[in-house]
Amino acid sequence: MRRAIATVSMGGSLVEKLEAAASVGFDGIELFEADLTYFPGKPEEIAARARDLGLVIVALQPFRDAEGLSESERARMLDRLERKLDLLGRLGTGLLLVCSQTRPDTTGDPERLVEDLRLVADRAAARGARVGYEALAWGRHVNDWRLAWDIVRRADHPALGLVLDTFHMLVKGSPSAPLRDVPAEKIFLVQTADAPAISMDPLFWSRHYRCFPGQGELDVESILRELLAIGWDGWLSHEIFSDDFRSTSARQAAIDGMRSFFFLEERLGRPSLPPRPAVGGIGFVEFVEASERAEAFRASLRALGLPRTHRHRSKRVELYRAGGVAVVLNLEEEGFPHAFQLLHGLSVAALALETDGAEKARLRAAALGATPFVSPVGAGELVIPAVRGVAGSLLFFLDPPRPGATFHEIDFVPDPDPSPAPDLGLVAVDHVAQVVPPAELPSWVLFYRTLFGLEPAQRTDLVDPRGPIVSRALESADGAVRIVLNSSPAQTSAAGRFLARTAGAGAQHVAIACRDLLAAAARIPPELKLPIPENYYADLEARFGLERDFLDALRAAGALYDRIGPGEFLHLYTRSMNGFFFELVERRGGYDRYGETNTPVRLAAQAELDRSPAEELTLMRAV
Ligand code: MG
Ligand code: MG
Repeated sequence: MRRAIATVSMGGSLVEKLEAAASVGFDGIELFEADLTYFPGKPEEIAARARDLGLVIVALQPFRDAEGLSESERARMLDRLERKLDLLGRLGTGLLLVCSQTRPDTTGDPERLVEDLRLVADRAAARGARVGYEALAWGRHVNDWRLAWDIVRRADHPALGLVLDTFHMLVKGSPSAPLRDVPAEKIFLVQTADAPAISMDPLFWSRHYRCFPGQGELDVESILRELLAIGWDGWLSHEIFSDDFRSTSARQAAIDGMRSFFFLEERLGRPSLPPRPAVGGIGFVEFVEASERAEAFRASLRALGLPRTHRHRSKRVELYRAGGVAVVLNLEEEGFPHAFQLLHGLSVAALALETDGAEKARLRAAALGATPFVSPVGAGELVIPAVRGVAGSLLFFLDPPRPGATFHEIDFVPDPDPSPAPDLGLVAVDHVAQVVPPAELPSWVLFYRTLFGLEPAQRTDLVDPRGPIVSRALESADGAVRIVLNSSPAQTSAAGRFLARTAGAGAQHVAIACRDLLAAAARIPPELKLPIPENYYADLEARFGLERDFLDALRAAGALYDRIGPGEFLHLYTRSMNGFFFELVERRGGYDRYGETNTPVRLAAQAELDRSPAEELTLMRAV
């Protein structure tokens, strides 16, 4: 299979799109005609530019309203066709994509459709070109690939073949098994696209929700398996119409598109990437803060059961550890941490993932086009490979821990003046929640999925009193690494306010698992906790029929509760610090969600605390 991308899948000018596609290694592009219309030069210049960049122009698309027209309109259509075939010649491409008719004032008589497409194919063949027929899910008469195949089969013309589009097939629920009866050489092009599994009008769904395979929730892979089974080995082309994609750079879309192909190839058992590292958990979370403001954050860490145990050998960096949780507080006044702090204030500047090989992870990240980052290190200090993650923060790759050689044993010394903290029975970082702009959400889903094999759970739509939030959780197979990505189109939602306040800092909360949440809660000062309204507990009692004592204990702890089958989840939140907050969680009986049902309560409580005159004003303007 050869990899192409439709120009409609990228933002920017046509030349930028070609350059971006070539820079990440695509073999071809599918030219969307509007892109050419907006191009100020001649078609031959695009043909030459593509050739120079090593790109094949796989097809020109789309040619609409080809079939089922009245006699007079058919004559005009053929004139239009001749002009497009001229263009094909000038572009040096041999395939014109014809999509199925959508107009209501046309005939759906199959004999007529066959005749029209045979005519179109004849005209193309006379110029040495071919025509690929694609069934749009919202086609008037042909809205399923099997109907398109029936027409192509009956037309029986060597210059007429099928264009398959995984989006159209999957949203219609069209089976792909009958592909086994289609000769591979009659499939001229396969367009790949994914989407979130939400039910809506296919046209609207397509225009606004398409995404690269691996970013959505449709089973693109099963179609490709059928194609491989019949020995098909042609062009695959990502065709993604999306408002969000057009608002990101051509380069980012091209990187995501290539990651998507790597993802598909690996799933199909034809990997072209270095092996995937296994991840074992979050090794440390690194915060940055201005040193003159650091005392408040230090106090919060201690109150959450994290004593300061170590100091860095050469830098103004402190380490707080309890159980399997390690928090680094970086107070450096130069370099990356300082720049991050100046831009975002108190925030998470880095996450470190435990892997089964830091170098293995680095190689994989490089092959996926991640941006490497090299930290300056002192003599004898550990060089930890890193790449840029969400919001320009860092993602470190740690080697498996070996006695005497962990990051803190090499780079840190025990604190001569350790600050004690109560034992809250902390176990490990349970999950990290990151906020990203809506246009970046699919991109980061694919990043974590391809780099570490984290699997996304179904998209969740959260209710915030001030705007919708879309949430996607990604988890390693054993649940040791869980990352929740949140995004909101509303500036007034919690996610939107966080982005505005911190200039897009990335991590909004870090959840820490503890052995006994109610016991831990009793040792946390009440003023640190997010206040939960009394009404919540009345509702909880009604929903779950909890024992009086247990309900009282939850209320006293300021904790929230969820239950699914045998699984129970107890959690509480701290008040936020520069928009960031901690969560303490206890999972019981194999509970594997995040207490999403309680998120509206948390969001409302936070919105209540956030109410400042300036925000009220914004809110009033928004209303
Ligand atoms: Mg298509
Ligand atoms: Mg959480």
